[in-house]
Amino acid sequence: MNRLGKKLGKIEERLDKIRTPHIWANPKKCAACWKCVEECPNHAIGRVGFLWHKHIVFQNSSDCIGCKKCIRTCQHGVFRERILKTYPHKVEC
Ligand code: SF4
Ligand code: SF4
Repeated sequence: MNRLGKKLGKIEERLDKIRTPHIWANPKKCAACWKCVEECPNHAIGRVGFLWHKHIVFQNSSDCIGCKKCIRTCQHGVFRERILKTYPHKVEC
């Protein structure tokens, strides 16, 4: 893999911490109550803790099924639905 490929891979990795195929998250708004972590049926949401801030991240973003429980649970508006979703599609040649 060339340097550009590696960089893009790292960017993709970081993005997967704040998005799933269905949901965007803004961890800056997180108050670390962990309600969404308990509610997520597929354990897609994890916790990280720094000295200055604790917040959620997506730990298994591909396991998100788009149930939107996290959006309904969070009182701080951390989650929102992704409008543009990427689905595999058939290309006619
Ligand atoms: S419910 Fe909201 S505030 Fe609580 S841990 Fe989850 S994202 Fe953070
Ligand atoms: S949409 Fe459902 S499965 Fe996906 S992160 Fe939120 S609670 Fe978990």
